[in-house]
Formats: sequence, structure tokens, C-alpha cells
Amino acid sequence: MKTIGLIGGMSWESTVTYYQIVNEVVKQELGGLHSAKVILYSVEFDEIEKCQAAGEWEKSGEILGRAAQGLEAAGADFILICTNTMHKVFDQVQSFVKVPLLHIAQVTADALKRAGISRVGLLGTKYTMEQDFYKGRLAENGIDVIIPEKEEIDVVNAIIFNELCLGEIKDASRKTYLKIIDEMTAKGAQGIILGCTEIGLLVHQADTTARLFDTTQIHGETAALMSLGKL
Ligand code: GLU
Repeated sequence: MKTIGLIGGMSWESTVTYYQIVNEVVKQELGGLHSAKVILYSVEFDEIEKCQAAGEWEKSGEILGRAAQGLEAAGADFILICTNTMHKVFDQVQSFVKVPLLHIAQVTADALKRAGISRVGLLGTKYTMEQDFYKGRLAENGIDVIIPEKEEIDVVNAIIFNELCLGEIKDASRKTYLKIIDEMTAKGAQGIILGCTEIGLLVHQADTTARLFDTTQIHGETAALMSLGKL
């Protein structure tokens, strides 16, 4: 079994989910007392968020790059950055280590292609929804991306940073997200990417008829199957 390296803490609320997913998949695949080999480097999110807000991406990339080096030295065979947003510095982080990083937008694009989806709605932080680093990777895979209206982008982003990353799960915010999901579906989205690793804590497949692609679930599951040599 290969060892999975996780760069977590962004936020730690969703890193908990990653830890659960990789272990659940290994249990499901191997049964008994089997569990995932995981090394976690959990960063101080306040430091990272301040870099994001100030546009100091290179500085944040260095912090994550050093975390990746720590994971590699500790024996990780491959590494996940446990947040969509910080994939903005994916190449920089990859440049710090020899072991591969598993790109969250790539594994999500692969899942969409397997589902036959070519037009998708995207929910995430404002960085993920507005900038090109994430949508660009989807476009390279032939996937057309719909994002919410400008005012809604701000609302979706505020709920992530002011509630979900603090572990606050509110019905009113779930309703807001579901309304935005419906609007993107009406614009032709064949599925919706939960493109922020905390959104799965708020919105579940049972809440909507739209087909949801939860990036935390997809990223974690892919990592676990890779660690077992099943992908
Ligand atoms: N976990 C979130 C994401 O997947 C947001 C936190 C962050 O800004 O890294 O994008």
C-alpha cells in the first residue's frame, strides 16, 4: 500500500473529511482492520488566508511547498493539497518535491468525463470561481464552466470563509446554495462541482436533483484507490 501525503488545514474542517474518506475507501476495498497509510501536514490556515487576501500567492506556495517537502521526507508516495483554491499554486508546490501531486481539478474533470458531462456549474471560493487556474484545467478537458452571478459569488465566498471553515452549518446558507445550484442548472449545467472542500459539509446529494460532484469525495477516493494500486 502506498502512503498518502495530505497538506491539510485549509480548513481543518474539511481535512477531517479527507481522513475519513481515505480510510472508508480502504476499509471498503480491503475489509477487516485495514486502514489507509496517511501522513498529514496541517498548516495554520489564518496565515494562508492572509496570503490569499493580500494576493501573496507565491508566499503561500512556499509554505505549502515546504509542507510537501516534509511529507516527502516522511515517506509520502504522493501528495494531495486538500483545498481547491490553493491549486492556484499547484505547479509551485510540485516544484518542491519529486513525488507527484494529485490535482483536484483533474480528478474532478475525469469524473465529469466518465459521467458524460461537458457543461457544469462551479461553486467555490471567489478565487476558484473567478480566476483561471481552476476553470482553465476544466476547459483543457473539454468542460464548459458556468459560475454564479457576481453578487452571488460574494455570498458563496462569504459563507465558505465566515461559516463553513469555522464549522458553522446553517440551514439558511444551504437554501442559498440550493437556489444558486438551481439557477446554474436552469442555465444548462448538467452537473454541479462542489469546488470547495467544505461545501460537502453543507450541501448533500439528497438535498437536490442536480447531480453533485463533491471535490473532497472525488479527490479522497481517487487517492485511496491509487494507494491500493487500483487506479
Ligand atoms: N477549502 C476551500 C477550497 O477548497 C477554501 C479554503 C481555502 O481558501 O483554501 O477552496
